[in-house]
Amino acid sequence: MLDRPFLTTVVGSMPRPKFFRDRVDRHLADGAGEGDLLDLMDRSIPYVAALQEAAGVDVISDGEWRRKSYVGVIAEMLTGVEQFKVPLDSFRHDARVGYAVIGPVAPTREGLFAEEAVKLRRNTSKAVRVALPTPHLTASFLWDPVKSPPHCSEREFIETMVPIIRREVELLRDAGVRYVQFDDTRIGGAHAEEPESVAYRDALFDSVDTLNRVVDGIDGIYTSLHLCGKRHIGPDQVPRYDTMLPGFERLHIDMPMFEMLQFDDYDRALLCGLPERMDVGCGCVASKTFEVDTPAEIAARAREAAKIVGPERTALHPDCGFSPGTYFDIPLDEIYQKLGNMTRAAEMLRAEA
Ligand SMILES: [Zn+2]
Repeated sequence: MLDRPFLTTVVGSMPRPKFFRDRVDRHLADGAGEGDLLDLMDRSIPYVAALQEAAGVDVISDGEWRRKSYVGVIAEMLTGVEQFKVPLDSFRHDARVGYAVIGPVAPTREGLFAEEAVKLRRNTSKAVRVALPTPHLTASFLWDPVKSPPHCSEREFIETMVPIIRREVELLRDAGVRYVQFDDTRIGGAHAEEPESVAYRDALFDSVDTLNRVVDGIDGIYTSLHLCGKRHIGPDQVPRYDTMLPGFERLHIDMPMFEMLQFDDYDRALLCGLPERMDVGCGCVASKTFEVDTPAEIAARAREAAKIVGPERTALHPDCGFSPGTYFDIPLDEIYQKLGNMTRAAEMLRAEA
């Protein structure tokens, strides 16, 4: 259950300042030490916490500023993973940090996520959330069909990650973190062109059951699953999530977080079919545009969700992280405006309820 109607939160990442991007670049180019980098980021966490507090967000993150990327943090915790720079020609960034499993994988730095939470909590009185990748998402970024050792299949790597990520969740709970978020941009995407097929169901259920094994039996946390990018594109070319409903029925997560910028009939079908035990994360703020959504635009999207599931089951958040990769160059003031308009939208909606 949400702490309040129309709770506001973030998906996780915030754009990294240029000094951070430069340091990561140097590290990847010549192996320059990470100690200085982490020290600088630790001293920057109060700023990113203050930005979200000033915008009025209820549950905040550390912007994932202690990570080179939202998935890559896993690489910092394991043996056998190499890191490298991948040049890109993409929206607002020209590179990303790449990873590959190249040797035996074992955990070396247990509690890295809890460490993030502790550093953030020292700098805020707000509730905090910490995001972890799912085992499947980790594999899709770290396991490489060419570079990874022949004795370690993708499936074996996923199984290796289940207890490692589960342990991180337990340590987050022990550190007093209530809001634990999982990121999976792929779940429900395999064979999505044939949502009636056995292959689609098998892949969906496998992802869901694997995630359930990460969280089952861990009390005292509130779990979310961030799912940006609607998965199934039907003959009408409109992307939708509702084909994932059989997966949600068996998913042990408190709140899926959906992208809902263009709320449509497919979204209505999705929310009508969602188990009542689940709250709904309404991704109603555009994270990837230069334009800043107005409070009225944001409220209009969340209002549609609340009409179906009620204000007490509706949370507001951006449709995605504000910085999917380290190299993104986005002004933090723009993020502050977007978050501020989101909390104004939530106030408008609470006044109506
Ligand atoms: Zn996303």
